[in-house]
Amino acid sequence: MIHYTCDRCKRQINPDSQTRFIVQIDIQTATNDLEPEFEDEVDHLNELHQVLEGMHEPIVVTDEEAETSHHGRYDLCPECHRQFMKNPLGREAVLALGFSNN
Ligand SMILES: [Zn+2]
Repeated sequence: MIHYTCDRCKRQINPDSQTRFIVQIDIQTATNDLEPEFEDEVDHLNELHQVLEGMHEPIVVTDEEAETSHHGRYDLCPECHRQFMKNPLGREAVLALGFSNN
């Protein structure tokens, strides 16, 4: 039997009795959005990205990449999913209501 662990609260998720939520986060640096040759730039960036992927293990993110981009896939239990939906960006206004990462 496969066990899943919530990536936020670290509790185990029992897929038989609980819904497992998957959050996928893909953050990229927005560049060249105003350039006329935007589509060409996208193609170029895709090629560059493929080259970079060839240089690294797919899961590994270098420190430099981690500063400007983030791609993650997280399992959440129903409770953490609820908290995440309330405050996907972790804004402090919601933290003040008792939601804390710590
Ligand atoms: Zn959780």
